[in-house]
Amino acid sequence: MSDLSVKLGVLRLGRVAGKCKYTLIDEKDVNLVQQYAVEPRVEVDKNGNGACIYAVAHDISRGHCSGKYLHELLWESHNGGIAPGWRVTHKNHVTVDNRLDNLELVKDNRQAQVPSQPDESSGSQTKNRENSLYWITIMQLTGDPLEVNYPHFSKWYDFNGDIVGPVDGSYVYYECHYAPCTRMEREIREFSICGRCQEVRYCGTSCQERDWPAHKRLCQKRGRQVRESSPDR
Ligand SMILES: [Zn+2]
Ligand SMILES: [Zn+2]
Repeated sequence: MSDLSVKLGVLRLGRVAGKCKYTLIDEKDVNLVQQYAVEPRVEVDKNGNGACIYAVAHDISRGHCSGKYLHELLWESHNGGIAPGWRVTHKNHVTVDNRLDNLELVKDNRQAQVPSQPDESSGSQTKNRENSLYWITIMQLTGDPLEVNYPHFSKWYDFNGDIVGPVDGSYVYYECHYAPCTRMEREIREFSICGRCQEVRYCGTSCQERDWPAHKRLCQKRGRQVRESSPDR
């Protein structure tokens, strides 16, 4: 694919909103980001417009309270400080696509805390998303090795970045489980759940079908574990 002459870095953020999340950065930023512990954070819109996931960088020597949005950290390291009244947003609305080309400085109007999501009913927007560098890159990942090999040791994070168990319901909104898809529920339990494992949710049947080759191994395993070890929710 000649379009992919750009050098990219993919960072595993961890488990959040029902799936394993990754963030995309420019390859030249990989060294910078390695000085931090980068974790996912779900931001829930206070007006009930759903939620979205950001990558947050924690200074390894200073712990959780030092968290800073990765997109702001990257912007500042290339363009200098962000003036009061301004903020950095993601041009393609994919809040974990932290390539510098995807970031822009906009006036902070405080309204749109959660960026608008593409409308699922619009076919052309779906095409745009699927042609996006984020989608193409994440689609090439062959499943999360930690999840496959050590399902019990995979970390789940809640809204505060604290580690939680996978079945305690601390994550309220699910993102579509198909790795490259960034559609997130706007209402709790909006997406349909995998009927076999009752663990993962999808924005539609096409994502569920495309995720199946990767998900099927875990789908059976999880089902067994849930029956053995977990009480009903
Ligand atoms: Zn989806
Ligand atoms: Zn399943």
